[in-house]
Amino acid sequence: MPNFQLSDAVFEEAAKRFPTPFHLYDEAGIRVRARALNAAFGWNPDFREYFAVKALPNPAILSILKEEGCGLDCSSATELTLAERCGFRGEEIILSANAMPPEEFSQARALGAVINLDDLSDVPTLRSHGGIPETVCLRFNPGGDFAIGNTIMGNPGEAKYGMMPSQLREALKELKTESVRTFGLHAFLSSNTREESYFPELAALLLTLGKELAEETGLRFGFIDLSGGIGIPYRPEDPEPDIAAIGEGVRRAFEKICPEGGVGIKTELGRWMTGPFGWLVTRAMHEKKIYRDYIGVDACAVNLMRPAMYGAYHHITVCGKRDWPEDHVYDVTGSLCENNDKFAVERKMPETVPGDLLVIHDTGAHGYAMGYNYNGRLRSAEILYTAEGGYRMIRRAETPDDYFATLTGF
Ligand SMILES: *Cc1c(COP(=O)(O)O)cnc(C)c1O
Repeated sequence: MPNFQLSDAVFEEAAKRFPTPFHLYDEAGIRVRARALNAAFGWNPDFREYFAVKALPNPAILSILKEEGCGLDCSSATELTLAERCGFRGEEIILSANAMPPEEFSQARALGAVINLDDLSDVPTLRSHGGIPETVCLRFNPGGDFAIGNTIMGNPGEAKYGMMPSQLREALKELKTESVRTFGLHAFLSSNTREESYFPELAALLLTLGKELAEETGLRFGFIDLSGGIGIPYRPEDPEPDIAAIGEGVRRAFEKICPEGGVGIKTELGRWMTGPFGWLVTRAMHEKKIYRDYIGVDACAVNLMRPAMYGAYHHITVCGKRDWPEDHVYDVTGSLCENNDKFAVERKMPETVPGDLLVIHDTGAHGYAMGYNYNGRLRSAEILYTAEGGYRMIRRAETPDDYFATLTGF
């Protein structure tokens, strides 16, 4: 089930101090999470989590994760700059390329970041933009469907990412003639999966292939990068994946395929790290009864796009009414001129009236970060609920001046 660790009093206190809507993040929860991950993979001496910056690109959060020993997975110049300004350096940063401007290779090389190449054509680009380093990571795409047992977990054959095995071979041959001595393998084959065998199966796939490639090329197989994809329980009936069991499953695969050790493990979890530790706090502003009952709130899809974009479920609670019977059915809507601007559709909820404070759960990853400015709506503030129980604004809300700032000649 979603994370109910914070009491309604925390959200109510925050809403007294800051105007709604805002995202609130729980520092203590994020720290506990990072420690659980590091413990689950502690058996691998070279383990490191590279938090996927895109999930929650706020320096306060990135700095907390740095203190917990995490690196960062970046995918753009701006994310690289964010990493640099938070004090991440060298191998604490991975750049995952995919159809990116070549200058971003130069920037990543200047920082000493690990480069994750997405295509054979990235080799000459890297050569002329920052140069080929000693260690590179290559992104693998196995094609077809990725299945565990009878369950299809993803469709790599339709995904734009990564290289086919023949291209990995060609890239490594070419890289070997230059300065590369060590390579790593990366793949991201399933998103938001709560299947605990996903990482173990992926590890087995990458370790087997990596050993083959090392034998063929004579290069050192340095690490596997399991990337992101571990899911979270968005719905009350969803179970929580057990990270200790996942770490143990990867260890078993590792010891079977790689008994000699010497291969590091990296992850780039985004959603699992911070998703359950963020909430979008919004106030009910309107009640409307037509063919359905609607509750209009002061947040909208620009503050949280997932429901509008994917029909994603986010649990909603009403402060002070957690124990009330869910005997009303509402669509919870924002103000955009788009009918998909709904945080919930035909949702059973307690009776809700204008003035109620609503808490939309699991917005700590791919929440604020996917924001936009449609309809001239502005992005909200972000508040950190600190480990000491304080409330710290870590990003102010946008103002109309921010909206107008990029318009030229106006
Ligand atoms: C999005 C992304 C992640 C994080 O994915 P989650 O589903 O949030 O865990 C990790 N690595 C790469 C390259 C990504 O694009």
